[in-house]
Amino acid sequence: MMNKKFGIALIALLPALCLSLGLAACGGENGGPVGHVHTYTVENVCSGCGDKWEYTEGLSYMLDTETDTYMVTGVNTALDGVEELALVIPYGYQGKFVTAIRGDAFNNSMAEEYSKLTSVTIPGSVKTIGTRAFACCNALTSIELPKSVTEIGSAAFSYCVELTSITLPDGVTEIGSAAFSYCVELTSIEIPKSVTEIGSGAFSYCVELTEIHYAGTIDEWKEIKKTDELEPQVSNYTVVCTDGTIAADGTETTK
Ligand SMILES: [Zn+2]
Repeated sequence: MMNKKFGIALIALLPALCLSLGLAACGGENGGPVGHVHTYTVENVCSGCGDKWEYTEGLSYMLDTETDTYMVTGVNTALDGVEELALVIPYGYQGKFVTAIRGDAFNNSMAEEYSKLTSVTIPGSVKTIGTRAFACCNALTSIELPKSVTEIGSAAFSYCVELTSITLPDGVTEIGSAAFSYCVELTSIEIPKSVTEIGSGAFSYCVELTEIHYAGTIDEWKEIKKTDELEPQVSNYTVVCTDGTIAADGTETTK
């Protein structure tokens, strides 16, 4: 019963939560010092201003003994009796940071209940998103990725058919193969300069994807290690770089 109540409460709290996240980005307007950026502890409280990170209870975790941090492995009771869920992952669990989302954690092709996930907010403690972590989450419309994320696993967001746009934070170095494949509603994506590797078919079958916005130059785009060509035959996007564009057929146009 507790979980059901919590789920309903979470949906009711969503506007307030979004607001507090928005303020966190601006800083200074939330009662903390000007220019303040929240720094959440393992207790999910900001050490600077006491702000609480409101996260979803009832998730499951596994301790990574190598790093002595937790990885989220999926949902335990969080979806019980809930129609939909705006998933918020905590910074800390049982006194340790949560630094990873395990492969298949919320893979909806393995447990259909993940079609209840409408949005995902990942905390600034998470560095890696595992293979197929959110695959087939067919109700997911938005994803917040923090700057801490460096690695997006293979097929991590594949078949997220309702996802319309995503901005990858500056800090991501690796985009796994097929990471966003079959995101058929995805119209644009922003890729930061920090990316050094893009796996094969990362954006394949993104039929609505017409533009990839890259924060570097054409030459820098070419230097990104690509484990294969990005299957332009099944995609039709232009890579918009800071000094020009690369069309789907490879034609370059400099500004
Ligand atoms: Zn704060």
